[in-house]
This record gives sequence, structure tokens and C-alpha cells, in this order.
Amino acid sequence: MTNTNTSGSDAVLRCVDLRKIYILGEVRVEALRGINMTINRGEMVSIMGPSGCGKTTLLNIIGSLDYPSSGKIFIEGRDVSNANEKELTEIRRKSVGFIFQFYNLLPVLTAVENVELPMLIAGVAKDERTSRALELLEKVDLLNRKDHKPDELSGGERQRVAIARSLANRPSILLADEPTGDLDTETGQSVLKLLREVNRTENQTLVLVTHDPNIARQSSRIFHIRDGRIASIEET
Ligand code: ADP
Ligand code: MG
Repeated sequence: MTNTNTSGSDAVLRCVDLRKIYILGEVRVEALRGINMTINRGEMVSIMGPSGCGKTTLLNIIGSLDYPSSGKIFIEGRDVSNANEKELTEIRRKSVGFIFQFYNLLPVLTAVENVELPMLIAGVAKDERTSRALELLEKVDLLNRKDHKPDELSGGERQRVAIARSLANRPSILLADEPTGDLDTETGQSVLKLLREVNRTENQTLVLVTHDPNIARQSSRIFHIRDGRIASIEET
């Protein structure tokens, strides 16, 4: 991976002409048709668009969960588009944190164990990961639920555990795919409030997919996606 961030800007993420074509037998789906976006450190942006327009594909590619068919991705100026498997694992582990609509917590682990998991995978020593996990649970106001398993938590509480987990390895970028999509309006707002707090107090960059205009309005820019392209960028 080469460092190509010579522009002097503080871009934490840059996508250049990203394209993704899925081929399933005879069917070709052009999920992304040339996405260009630059997101600065500490920014909070939203991605909106109808179902099937490519939002999840884009987030997964930014987060190195999937490869683009062509185009480039720079994270903190590093070209990650040509990274090998080992480097990709490293990027997933250290540079990005994921928050999903349905939480994706491990059901057999307690809240604190779920938050510790990314640190365990990254090889952080037991004492350090437990103390960091407890600190994060305190930040999301769930210290009193640390020994609860996911099915002993409400939806909003599960998502707060997932937010704590996403922060575990201090990623450059948080990627959230409809994080309030499974929650009622009020709980969704409190989860969003927490994400905004993390965005502000930790200068944590946040890229958020949402269907909710009230949520999108709270970010600095809204990328409207249509058919795999950016149709417009709205400054809020
Ligand atoms: P969104 O998140 O905006 O609803 P997606 O990114 O999930 O949209 O999907 C974009 C398009 O790509 C859709 O037409 C979808 O059917 C297709 N698609 C998504 N994932 C795959 C896949 N793994 N294989 C084939 N087609 C896919
Ligand atoms: Mg989606």
C-alpha cells in the first residue's frame, strides 16, 4: 500500500470512480456505476436512496468487506484498493468500525465480551481489552448491563453495545448501515444522539445509511444515490 495523500487535505476517505458489477449466472447487476466521494476527518455524512440503489454495496466496499470491480479507495491517504488479503484483514480490524441494522452481536457472549471481541481478534491483552470494553460500555451508558447477553437487552441497548464494539479498535471511520432501521422513532433518536456525540467529542468520522430524513438532516452532507450513482449532494 502506498501513501498517496499529497493533497494536504484532511480526507479520511476518498472513493474514485468505484464500480461494482455482480454477476449471477446470466444476470449482471451494476450495483455501483462510478462513485466519487471525499469525506473529511470528523465529518458526519448520510447516504440516502431507494432500496437496491447500492448503499450497502458501497458501505461494504468502503469497509473492505467486499472488493470493487474497479476504481480506487483511499483510507487516510492509503490506497486500499489493491491490498492483499492480509492487508485487508488489517484494514477491517483497525481502520473501520461497522454498525449494522440488526446489531450482529454474538448471542452466546455477554455485552462486555461482545465489545472485547474485536480487541481479542486484534491480539490486545486480556486486562487491557476488558478495561477498554468497560470504558466503552460506560460511554454508551450500559455498564449496568455488562453481563447481559443480547437476548436479555432491548433493541436500543443492543445497538448501543454494537456502537461500543465498533469503537473498540479506535477506527478512522465508523460505517453504519441503517443503524436505527429496526428501532422505534424515539429509541432511534437516542441511538443517533449517541452516534453524534461520538462524532463530536471524539472527532470520529461517521458514514451513515438511513431512510429517515430527520436523521440525515443532522449530518453535514447527504449523498443521494440513484441506480449506483450519486444523484446529488445536499449540504445541510
Ligand atoms: P441497498 O443497500 O441500497 O438496498 P444493495 O447495495 O444491497 O442496495 O444492492 C444493490 C443492487 O445489487 C441490488 O440490485 C441488489 O439486488 C444487488 N446485489 C446486492 N448484493 C448482491 C450480491 N451479493 N449478488 C448479486 N447482486 C447483489
Ligand atoms: Mg442496504
